[in-house]
Parts: sequence; structure tokens; C-alpha cells
Amino acid sequence: MPLTDKQRWLYQQANGILLDESPQEDAHERVGLLTVIAGTRSVALFLGVEEADRLRLERVFAHSEVKPVTAPGPPTAYTWESRYRPEITRLFRERDEAPALWLCPGPEHADAVRAGVDQIAAGALLGYPQCCIAAQQREKARFESAVIAGYIRDVGEDAEKIAGALLENCNVEIDWEDEYRVPRTTARFPFVQHIACGACLSSGSSPTAILNSQYRQLVEDVDHHLYDYLVRIAKRVEDDLRL
Ligand SMILES: [Zn+2]
Repeated sequence: MPLTDKQRWLYQQANGILLDESPQEDAHERVGLLTVIAGTRSVALFLGVEEADRLRLERVFAHSEVKPVTAPGPPTAYTWESRYRPEITRLFRERDEAPALWLCPGPEHADAVRAGVDQIAAGALLGYPQCCIAAQQREKARFESAVIAGYIRDVGEDAEKIAGALLENCNVEIDWEDEYRVPRTTARFPFVQHIACGACLSSGSSPTAILNSQYRQLVEDVDHHLYDYLVRIAKRVEDDLRL
């Protein structure tokens, strides 16, 4: 569906506003912004927008139904059981989340994000496939366990000693095998904002593949520069992965 004049105007006005310091991340975020302006997706989340740019975004969307909302970023949902004692596990779990900028289509979504949504609820609001949300949870559980195991190997099972080592930022060796899902997602599905799960990465008809082609079509219709840039980045990352 082509964009209305108003939607196109909003997107163009937001063009000079930095959504992230890294050009590649900024490009990804811009797709996220476009999907919400176009109504393809209901909510977008930006974690790297500076104060001055946030104010500029607020001015751009002042007379639009879509509104930028400053609210807590989504905290990790600790849905898994740790195999370690609670006093140890507690040391490795986040508490406060930095504020984030959400783009919401109306007061209902704005109220929801202001009340605070965890990463699972946020993933659903952001239109991420359930399979990929679940894969992130599994990876977080695996990573938490690997980090704790690393500290215990170094300083033992005493919670106070572990807390001390954390404070000192000790260089602990972690037994961790990266599945490279982030670069693999960039290479294969450069238009989506989430990290694709293994199943999505190995199929051309997965939920992520479908989202990617939907978003790709939108970007191709509206912003050729952005389209070319993301395709080039995908190609470069794919070449790097082959090395
Ligand atoms: Zn998936």
C-alpha cells in the first residue's frame, strides 16, 4: 500500500534525525520508524536516540496520531530457572533499565509501554515472531549460565567473592559458543529489527522471511537510498561470514 502524503512527509521530516550513532544501526532503526509511520507495524522502540534528537522527533510527530513516548526500556524477563543459588544468580540479573524512546500509534499502546513491558511483551508489541522471541530467551538463559560458571571457576561459589570480582570487573573466561545469529540475520534478513532464530535463519518461508520481504517492499517503495544501503550491508556481512 503506498504511503499517504502525510505519512511521506513525516518520514522525510524524520530523515535528518539520528536514531543511532552507528550508521548501520541507524539504518535498521529507520526501517522500524517507517514501518510504524506506514501502519505496517504498531510500535517501534529506539534505544540509542539522544535527547536533542528525541525533542526533534517529538516536534515532527506533534500533529500526528503516532507519538514518541519516553518510557523505560524493556527489562529482561527471567523466565528460566537458574541452576545456581539465588544469592549468586541475583548478582548477574539486571535491575534498572535506561529510558528508551517508543513510537506508539495511540494512547492505548503509550499507556502500556509507560506501565513497563518486559522483553517478551515488548517483542510481541514490536511484531517479532514468537519463535525468535523464544530463541532469545533460551540464549539469554544459556549465556547467564555460562557467565556464572566462568566466575565460579575463577573465584569459587562464595557469593561475596563473586560480587567482589564483579565490582572489580575481573576478566573471566567464559565458555561460550556464539551462533552468530546477529550477523546471520543482517546478512539474510536486513530489513527486520529482531534477531532471527535458527529455524527462521534456515528457511526462506519462515515468519522472519515473511516480515523481511514485507518491510523490504515498503523500503524499496519509499526510500531507495536506504534500500540500497541495507542491501549493500547485507552483502558485506554475508561475505564476512564466509571468510
Ligand atoms: Zn524465528
